Formats: sequence, structure tokens, C-alpha cells
Amino acid sequence: MASDLIESSKKHLWLPFTQMKDYDENPLIIESGKGVKLKDINGKEFYDAFSSVWLNVHGHRKKELDEAIKNQLDKIAHSTLLGMTNVPATELAEKLVEITPENLTRVFYSDSGATSMEIALKMAFQYWKNIGRSNKKRFVAMRNGYHGDTIGAVSVGAIDIFHHVYGALMFESYKAPIPYVYRSESGDAKKSRDECLQNLEQLLEENHEEIAALTIESMVQGAGGMIVMPEGFLSGVRELCTKYDVLMIVDEVATGFGRTGKMFACDHEGVQPDLMAAGKGLTGGYLPIAVTFTTEAIYEAFYDDYEKMKTFFHGHSYTGNQLGCAVALENLRLFQSERIVEGVQESAQVLKDLFIEQIEELPHVGDIRQLGLMCGIELVSSKETKEAFPVEKRVGYKVSLKMRELGMLTRPVGDVLVFMPPLASTKQELRDMILIMREAIQKVTKEEADTIGSII
Ligand SMILES: *Cc1c(COP(=O)(O)O)cnc(C)c1O
Repeated sequence: MASDLIESSKKHLWLPFTQMKDYDENPLIIESGKGVKLKDINGKEFYDAFSSVWLNVHGHRKKELDEAIKNQLDKIAHSTLLGMTNVPATELAEKLVEITPENLTRVFYSDSGATSMEIALKMAFQYWKNIGRSNKKRFVAMRNGYHGDTIGAVSVGAIDIFHHVYGALMFESYKAPIPYVYRSESGDAKKSRDECLQNLEQLLEENHEEIAALTIESMVQGAGGMIVMPEGFLSGVRELCTKYDVLMIVDEVATGFGRTGKMFACDHEGVQPDLMAAGKGLTGGYLPIAVTFTTEAIYEAFYDDYEKMKTFFHGHSYTGNQLGCAVALENLRLFQSERIVEGVQESAQVLKDLFIEQIEELPHVGDIRQLGLMCGIELVSSKETKEAFPVEKRVGYKVSLKMRELGMLTRPVGDVLVFMPPLASTKQELRDMILIMREAIQKVTKEEADTIGSII
């Protein structure tokens, strides 16, 4: 029966961000999950070391979350948010406004990180139009940034291997550099931060008259390789946006809801964005709800008599879905009662020690980047020269397959291993996961280095 399902998956499915030739060679079908573990149809268990792609908070089958959905089901599963609202969507909006940066007072729902970014882009664009400054219609994007896979989000994305193909479809945006300290010439955090800020200032000084908004991930570039921004960078960007009258759109899709050790990553620097996108952890990793937050000033620019044509004409079928909002509400309640954010700060320290003890010393580990429980381990061919492995070696991918064999799932970005366990992972679970990672890195990099050595 398991083999029938595998055959069926190969025959009918096309998976996201997946070369299906790879899938056919290494198929996997998950059947159930409990806590921080997933189980496949053959009964093999895996640690969910990437929180099912950066979503999961309390582990799988969390009793309170399961019950919140069941209870909501007894009332209604879904009704629309077009021109009306529902009970959990309204209650959730109030709770969300309480925990977001103070200036963000309005909640616009959608269903994925990409849509929440599309909405932020369109709001920013139309805001300037509505207040009679329609020359401000371009965007500044950060190099190496990632905001989702719809065309608007891709247009402000800048990861070549994902985005290059769609070049002709995208609207053009200005690109500003982001400090990637490990690979910067000086290797100095302050210096590369200041250079990037100077560069951005020049761009804004020259072009701010036509710039509507700037987009930036909050404190960590995720899909771009878990690149943690040096202290003072995000707040520096905020200052420049204010100075040049450019709206700041902060993408908290990956970093929001405790992941980095603060409720939102922009809280690390007290940054108040004009628009903020969030998703992933909002429902504890249960259901597709995302939000775009904005300020009263932006909201008011759309508020007028209908015939003035200032309405925000945007919506999705499942916007404000009751099941999703109900589970998100329960998720937020658990954040308080189980002190999740404080827990992440403690776990982050444990993890930091584990990295030093188990991972840092390995011969092909070039850089370890961590903010809270959001971590990237960059593998390199040479620690001294920081030279990368040849791309075609697919070392990151091979290490992830080895980890799978050893009972842990995570997806790398290139040769950067991603470690983003569920926020509620215990010390022992973190330790077990790091030991699996250590073994996989050792085995695979040794084999790869040997074959590279023998070619030379
Ligand atoms: C995952 C992610 C997105 C896209 O979210 P989806 O729900 O996959 O559409 C956007 N921005 C960042 C920073 C992300 O990590």
C-alpha cells in the first residue's frame, strides 16, 4: 500500500520548489506528526528541524490548537470578509494590534506570505496615488531578498536562481545592498553596515521623488541564506525611509511570532514599519492565514465616499477564514500562557552552546548564523579561504539527504543548512537534532572533500 502511494505521488504530483527528478529518486510521504516529529507512511520518524518550512511553533497535534479548530467547526468553517466580517477574524485583529509595533493599527487578511507582500506593495502604491502624489510609484528592494513567489513579490525579490527566469515578467525595482558580513571584504560588521546604508542613502537621495516604498526582510534574510543583519542596520534603514519620505515595508513572514526571540524581529531595534507582512507562525503552522498590517495614516488615505475611487480593490476567496483565525487566536493565547518568546530566548542560548560544542569546529563549516531559533550553517570547501563547494556538487542537498536518512528533515538554501526547529522544542530535542546534523555534515563533507581532492 505504501508503495502504491509512492507510485501515485510520482505519477500525479508536481511539488513546489522541487526538481521532480530529485523527488522521484528520493520520494517521501508524511502520514502523521506528533510534537516535533513527523512520521512517514513506512513508519519512519523524523525530527521536523525546519518546522515544516518555517511554520510550526508548538509542535504537531497540539491539543489546544486541535480543539480550537474543532470548536470553530461546530459553528462555521468559512464565510466571506468582503463587506462583512466574522467573529474570530475580528477578535484576532484586536489581539494582533496589541502585539505589533505601536503605530500599526490596521489588519488586512490574506492567505500566504506572498499575498501579504502583494497587498503591502499595492497599498503603498495606491496610498501615494490617493493622496495625489502618483509620481511615487517605484520600489526599492534589497539584494538577495525574498518575499514569496507571486509576480509582485518576485519583482521585489532578488535571488538570482529563483528570480532570473521571470525577469521579463517583473516590474523593475531599485536594488540596494545588504550587509553579508561573512563574505564582505573587511569582514567587519559595522563597516559593511555603514557602507550599505551610505549606498542606500545615495539611491534615495537621487530617486526618492519617484519611490513609493522600500521592502526588506526583518533582521534576517531567510531564503537568501539566513543572513543576519548587523546591529543598527534595520533601524538605519528606517531612519533613511523617514528622511526621504519613502514607506518602509517590513517582511516578517519568516521572522514574526517569536522565531527570533522577540514577538517580531523589528522589536530587536524598536523599528516601526509603515507596512508589515506576516504569516508562517501566525496559526502555529496549522492553517493558511497571513496579514498585512498598516498605520492609521495609510488606512485614512483610502477612506472616502465610494465615488472618489479610493477603495482598496483587493481580496481573496478565503480571506479571514474562521478556522484559521480561530486557531491563530488560540496560538496567541498559548504564546502568553506558555511563555513562548521567553522560551525561545532560553533555547537560543542552549543552541548557541551546542553550535560551539558540536558544529563550529567541523572542517567544512564556514559560518554559523543565528538569531533566536532561526539559523543557517554555511558549508564551504575551505574554511581558510571561504571558498564555496562547486555548485554541481550539491553538498547542502546531500547533507540534507543524509540527515533525512538519520531521522531529521530540513531543506537547505544552496550550501547553507537551515535549522529552524519548532519554537517549543526541548533542550534534549535540540541536542538530538544537532548531533544528527553533526554526523551528516561530517560524513558528507568528508566524502565530497575526498573526491575533490582526488580530482586535483
Ligand atoms: C516564506 C516567506 C514568504 C512567502 O510566504 P508564503 O506563505 O510561502 O507565500 C515571504 N517572505 C518571507 C521572508 C518568507 O520567508
